Amino acid sequence: MPTRPCWVEISTGALEHNFGFLRTLAPPGSELLAIVKADAYGHSLELCAPAAVRAGAQWLGVTSVEEGIAARSLCPQARILVMGAVFSGQHPQLIRHNLTPVVWEPFHFESLKAAAHVANAAPEDLPVHLEIDSGMSRQGASSHHLDPILAQLGKLSPFRVEAVMTHLYASDESDGAATARQLARLDQALTRIVPATRPEWLSVGASAALLGSDVQPIAALAQRFGLKMMLRPGLALYGVAPRFEPPFGQADAPYALAEAYKSLQPVLAWKTQVVSLRDIPPGAEIGYNGTFVATEPMRVALLAVGYADGLDRRLGNRFSLLLRGRRAPFVGRISMDQSVIDVTEIPGVEPGDEVMILGSQHGETITAFDHADATGTIPWEVFTRIAARVNRVGV
Ligand SMILES: *Cc1c(COP(=O)(O)O)cnc(C)c1O
Repeated sequence: MPTRPCWVEISTGALEHNFGFLRTLAPPGSELLAIVKADAYGHSLELCAPAAVRAGAQWLGVTSVEEGIAARSLCPQARILVMGAVFSGQHPQLIRHNLTPVVWEPFHFESLKAAAHVANAAPEDLPVHLEIDSGMSRQGASSHHLDPILAQLGKLSPFRVEAVMTHLYASDESDGAATARQLARLDQALTRIVPATRPEWLSVGASAALLGSDVQPIAALAQRFGLKMMLRPGLALYGVAPRFEPPFGQADAPYALAEAYKSLQPVLAWKTQVVSLRDIPPGAEIGYNGTFVATEPMRVALLAVGYADGLDRRLGNRFSLLLRGRRAPFVGRISMDQSVIDVTEIPGVEPGDEVMILGSQHGETITAFDHADATGTIPWEVFTRIAARVNRVGV
């Protein structure tokens, strides 16, 4: 049945292209773990996880066991890393679905051990990725408190440290100083962990690391410890290059970033339609509380999109969408399920006309950064707030 016309089109071809392009930026022998957490950043896990695998991804990254189980049903062969915590009662499912946990607390090993015992795991059967807190104070073991963790990892334990992982918190800062401090802490931790556990991978770096200047220092660290390098791009996979601060100039942009501006293709387009049109006289108020009052005769169009679809309510009276390739400003407040745009200057508008909320139309583009800048947030939040009721359609 046709649905209310507020939908997202996902170009799986663009995602495959982006993965292939990002691979060309990663050093030879390194691996890209495709981040598909949070329903592939709102782009649909169902569409994007198989596309990443078609493009050559061996690894997928999700937040939770439940996301991991969903990814497993779509991608039976992929390695799937659960990057957030595994919660009480979830360990048997983790093992049954062959999901790989990130561990950083001694108690994580206790709960895993019990589930591994029930599943008859042999010594070193269960790969884990050991996360080090190198400066974010969020997830990960402090490099000064590794003893109780290393004590869990003897030869007879069911665990094998497959990767040592950390998360960089300022790869988008152009001077690289914060990353250098983080990598120095990681270096200290590796000095203890590598001889004791012989990991295979060093898993460091998201999109900004891959497109900025952090790849070389990460690669140097990996090489020094004889580790292969794993990077974990998310946003770039969906066709958006992060912004750097301060911005790079034309001349000093890292090669990868300059290439990314040319090559990355947006994966998502968010669309709606004109529901109906009306001509209003001067003095007419539009929307809740009459925050917009017409000062001249106007033609306005009602749209099938509102804040319950993930359209930020703060865009009312301060953002415009694309209709027939022209900008049409929101007038009045955004309602829960509806909004109104001014089409006075756009001739020939009819019910059923397609309206671009985020994406390109006739050579004009509204980006996730445009939405983010208008509401004081970041593209990651713009994408992940597109509501579940908005259909994702593969194109
Ligand atoms: C989300 C996430 C990433 C991807 O970050 P992007 O900036 O979107 O590339 C990488 N690593 C971890 C641990 C994450 O949680």
